[in-house]
Amino acid sequence: MPHVAVVGAGIIGLSTAFALQRRGAEVTVVESGRPGGGQSAGQGRIFRHAHTDARLIEQVVHSRALWRQWEDELGAELVAPDGAVAIGDGVPAKAEALGAFPDAPVELLTPAELHERLPALADYDGPAMLDVRGGAIRTQTAVRALTDRLGAAVVTDHVLAVRRRDDGRVEVRTGTDVRAFDHVVLCAGRGTAGLARALDLDLPVELRAHVRVTFAVADPDPRPAPTFQDGSGVFGETGVYASPYPDPRLYAVGLSGSTPAHADGGVVDPADLAELAERTVAYVRRALPGLRPEPVEHVHCWVTRLPWGEDGVGLWSRDGVTALSGHNLFKQAPVLGEALAQTAVSGQVPEPWHHSARLGRDG
Ligand SMILES: Cc1cc2nc3c(=O)[nH]c(=O)nc-3n(C[C@H](O)[C@H](O)[C@H](O)COP(=O)(O)OP(=O)(O)OC[C@H]3O[C@@H](n4cnc5c(N)ncnc54)[C@H](O)[C@@H]3O)c2cc1C
Repeated sequence: MPHVAVVGAGIIGLSTAFALQRRGAEVTVVESGRPGGGQSAGQGRIFRHAHTDARLIEQVVHSRALWRQWEDELGAELVAPDGAVAIGDGVPAKAEALGAFPDAPVELLTPAELHERLPALADYDGPAMLDVRGGAIRTQTAVRALTDRLGAAVVTDHVLAVRRRDDGRVEVRTGTDVRAFDHVVLCAGRGTAGLARALDLDLPVELRAHVRVTFAVADPDPRPAPTFQDGSGVFGETGVYASPYPDPRLYAVGLSGSTPAHADGGVVDPADLAELAERTVAYVRRALPGLRPEPVEHVHCWVTRLPWGEDGVGLWSRDGVTALSGHNLFKQAPVLGEALAQTAVSGQVPEPWHHSARLGRDG
């Protein structure tokens, strides 16, 4: 079995390392900061099955099954069983697309049922659905459980350069070390494209920044809340997403907007982020009267978007090095970790993850 280096201990690097260890490979994860401190930071992400690309739905269904398996193996709840609610005119098409996947059941909701599920929402009588097996990902629990399981395989260091050597091995130069591996997997989030460029892997990543705002629930309900997506425009915004924290008193809300960033670091116009946060607060005042509209936390993050879609994802692999990029990847972590581990062990990118397949494309 090969010795594989994984650069980055976000959810994807940790999942890849876990999948590699389960295959019997030796693995070293190099993380410059805190595991889960990059794009994977903060509590809660939405696990939803609905995607424009049916191939991605298939992968996400597989991922849901793997999250369950990992819950048993790691002894922790990783995806809350409270469902994912979506509202808006896109609901009938989403429900129809999911109809082809018996493992991703959907229920259409009446206004009364919607209110029952999400009492924090203002009156709404348009299309609504519940993705029954969707729900809030317990992000920090997942990061902690995987980091604990990997133990000493996770080392703190910064990777400056990766290069292929003449003897067929791949050299990783960190702040304090030089080591050679049989394969290197780049899961460095916003750092991946830069490291990959020196290895003739050209990732067309657009770097942007995003903010999500957390609010207190005015009157916490004993029933756990589902995640929420609003594509209706009824409350003045489309592309809204929201996710409960494990603490039922907190609910995080984000608008799908993001702002451009310079490739070498820094947001082009920081005022954009402040405006996005203010729009989020204004949306909450209109749409979610069950939340107190004073922000209690902000989560800022880099968005690494591929040109073919908001949920676009792809793997690049050549001569001992594999790189991954994409956006909205948390829900796919187990299946993506398996795909990256398989690539590292076999040298072949499994279908449909090769970047040329443009997985997660819009339309
Ligand atoms: C507010 C917000 C909401 C989101 N909502 C959802 C959602 O609802 N559903 C969903 O599925 N996804 C969602 N996402 C996206 C999801 O969180 C990310 O796609 C995912 O966390 C990316 O994980 P990653 O491991 O690829 O990257 P990261 O978590 O960024 O991990 C990369 C790691 O590499 C390390 N690193 C970088 N360079 C180096 C180097 N040179 N040497 C050593 N280490 C290095 C970094 O420190 C970092 O820890 C959301 C993201 C945010 C921020």
